[in-house]
Amino acid sequence: MEKKMQIVALAPSRRLLGVPGYGKGRAGQAQFFRHRLGSNEAPDGPSLAVRLAAAEAFADAQHYPDLRGETLTAALAERHGVTADMIAVSAGSIVLLDQLIRAWCDPGDEVVAPWRSYEAYPIIIGVSGASLVEVPLDIDHRLCADKLVWAIGPRCRVVLICNPNNPTSTELPPEAIDELIATIPSHVLVVLDEAYADYAANAQTVAESPRGRLERHPNLVVLRTFSKAWGLAGMRVGYCVAATPIIAAIQSVAPPFPLPGPALAAALATLAEPEIVAARVARNAAERTRMSEGLAEAGLPTAKSAANFVWLPVKDRAEALTKHLSTAAIAVRCFAGEGVRITTGTEADTDALLESAAGWRPS
Ligand SMILES: *Cc1c(COP(=O)(O)O)cnc(C)c1O
Repeated sequence: MEKKMQIVALAPSRRLLGVPGYGKGRAGQAQFFRHRLGSNEAPDGPSLAVRLAAAEAFADAQHYPDLRGETLTAALAERHGVTADMIAVSAGSIVLLDQLIRAWCDPGDEVVAPWRSYEAYPIIIGVSGASLVEVPLDIDHRLCADKLVWAIGPRCRVVLICNPNNPTSTELPPEAIDELIATIPSHVLVVLDEAYADYAANAQTVAESPRGRLERHPNLVVLRTFSKAWGLAGMRVGYCVAATPIIAAIQSVAPPFPLPGPALAAALATLAEPEIVAARVARNAAERTRMSEGLAEAGLPTAKSAANFVWLPVKDRAEALTKHLSTAAIAVRCFAGEGVRITTGTEADTDALLESAAGWRPS
């Protein structure tokens, strides 16, 4: 029998059409930047204890690591006062969000989220075949609870809230978040992305709040990460806290061995050093104040930040400002036509930023 010729181009799923793709507005990798203020990373590296723990774990690299990251899961369960079956870990909290959306949404379903928010959301939602319903922020670049609740229609499966919000840095206070979650129908999954929680509340609240919230709202998932205040972006460690059936659904789409041994060991060792995180948070608060005040003096007012970065809503001047700062070897995140996001760094980073900003003459 003759094989029929098929004239069909090799192409991936149509779901990928129109999906924005990662890394837009990221500073060029090849260019050298003395001041890396584009990715909301911690300005200081891991402690010696964390380095040794990761190195020791690497000596066991011929073996597979924990099937489900059990050692870290147990330590996180203790930290948050929940059972281990209420925690899932993965290589970044963004991977957990992807698993959640895949486990929860079918093509045609809706995910409601405030927008502008984290650039990964439309990609994850788009690839799943669900659609993102964007709810505009208010005039102060904050989530608008009323508008969000109005946007929840019959096809809505998930509400996704980033608090404090990336890239606008603003937060809704804890009581307002609780009130909002209480208004969302209980058959809708509420995902609360708290990547920046450590910068917005005291350490005790950061540790205790997921448990209290989950008791009040069983349809809630809290996403956390070691990438920001815990200083381990390069190790890719994230986790989520939720009711057992939600965790079970995530696990059913998650591949085994989610985290390499050195990443597990580094995260565990970091959990034993809360004072380092506290120092990082304190330093961030000081530099953030200096940065916001200095930028305002230079004619660049920022949104009220509860995170480790500031948001300059400079709209159509975003690209020019980004370019101006890059001439002083400062990398920031540009959102063309919207604004510029600048991470809080060291004292020297703030000095360089303020000096460059003072010389900014918008045309
Ligand atoms: C940085 C960030 C994360 C963390 O992502 P990881 O995959 O854990 O590094 C998650 N959500 C938001 C909004 C972030 O800004």
